[in-house]
Amino acid sequence: MQAQVERQMRSSKTIALVAHDNMKETLINWCTARQQQLSNHKLVATGTTGALLEKALGISIKRYLSGPMGGDQQIGADISSANIDILVFFWDPLSPQPHDPDIKALLRLAAVWNIPVACTPSSADFMFNSNLIDSEYQYLVPDYQSYLSSRGAASE
Ligand code: PGA
Repeated sequence: MQAQVERQMRSSKTIALVAHDNMKETLINWCTARQQQLSNHKLVATGTTGALLEKALGISIKRYLSGPMGGDQQIGADISSANIDILVFFWDPLSPQPHDPDIKALLRLAAVWNIPVACTPSSADFMFNSNLIDSEYQYLVPDYQSYLSSRGAASE
């Protein structure tokens, strides 16, 4: 088994929000209903999702590129760099997407780094009704230094 180390999430989280086109209205409605709770956290989003959320919520959100233009990959990179704590990703299960490999890569990196992921409104409800959302949280992530050592690439 891959060696792991503990990491601490702060009580105020960085939450990445992504919705495919057919799911954008669902995500906007979900965020609008949760606006007060979300205000305790930092929100980031892919380009179009972020623009629509800024308009609907009247707040400013860090926006990555649009998903099909690289935004999913940017969010995946920030998960790997420990800059994102939670992923709410309402992907569309009924339509093919041009950036399917990027979607898979994003979900893979979220699993690699053991962050909470909600892909449906009901799972997001369960997640945001947990008291862990507004608490510090300790969790396990891969031990990157031991990963490097196992590959003969430890830093001096
Ligand atoms: P968008 O990207 O918010 O720019 O539409 C979402 C996605 O399809 O990954």
